[in-house]
Amino acid sequence: MSVMSRAMAVLGATLLALAISVPAAGENARAHEINDGVYSFTLGLGNHSMFVVGEDGVAVFDTFDSGHSQAMLAAIRDLTDKPIRYAFHSHNHWDHASGGQVFKDTGAQTVMHALATEWLAAHPGRDTATPDMVWSGERRDIDVGDFTVEMRYLGLNHGLGMTVFTIPERKAAFFADLVNPNRVMFAVVPDFNIGEWERTLTEILDLEFDIAVCTHNELPTDEAVKGCTRAHVEEERQFIRDLRNAILEEFQKGTGFLDVPKAVKLPQYAHWVGYDDWLEMNTLRLMTDLWMGPFPWYPETE
Ligand SMILES: [Zn+2]
Repeated sequence: MSVMSRAMAVLGATLLALAISVPAAGENARAHEINDGVYSFTLGLGNHSMFVVGEDGVAVFDTFDSGHSQAMLAAIRDLTDKPIRYAFHSHNHWDHASGGQVFKDTGAQTVMHALATEWLAAHPGRDTATPDMVWSGERRDIDVGDFTVEMRYLGLNHGLGMTVFTIPERKAAFFADLVNPNRVMFAVVPDFNIGEWERTLTEILDLEFDIAVCTHNELPTDEAVKGCTRAHVEEERQFIRDLRNAILEEFQKGTGFLDVPKAVKLPQYAHWVGYDDWLEMNTLRLMTDLWMGPFPWYPETE
């Protein structure tokens, strides 16, 4: 083994150890009851999960990674010793779909849409595990005793097999990546079909819920732990529309194509996280989409 490849191997091992190290469940872990028996959970690192405690057991929504999951498991065990029945994965991406083994080891079943499962089988992450229950199509309900988990695949929007969850008995919902309070779009808006995202947000507004957990809630942590609301769904949709309109205005003015990202300003969102660093990236991504046609896109097979 050369010096370089040895160094790379050490670096790889270090990164792996960092990626799956388990932080103490203590200080930074926050579980907050947002509705009757419905909790948000965060380690304060930008990821919010949800868990629901019922008479017959617990359901978990998005495991993120093993460290996050171990801390969430400890937080659940502080509240109840009821069995964890299900750990639901929202979609295929490694940054959400890792850590499932932590809950499998407790006897829970991990659940994922078939489109996400296929992708993950082709592209396993270093901290992902094969789901125990795979569902396909547009709708599936799972009975967890005194509450129901309604799963909806609303078609293409972000990633593969993106599932929107509602818990009708608790008037609660869980949204991964699609609703991001107090933040512009993420950087170059990876793996989003923006037009389909906008359509999905309109469909989400037709669902019944009073309170939700949004995985990347960028309100101050004391607010973010209280969850997100329909108003945040509307704001996300409005941001897409405002950005698109601002780009089209520059196109109409004849602004040079590559001058558009610097020309677009949306001062009404200047207080949102990412505005200074990401608005230009958001603009370049959406204008490319408007110029070339929407992407990513694939023929629906489910
Ligand atoms: Zn994602």
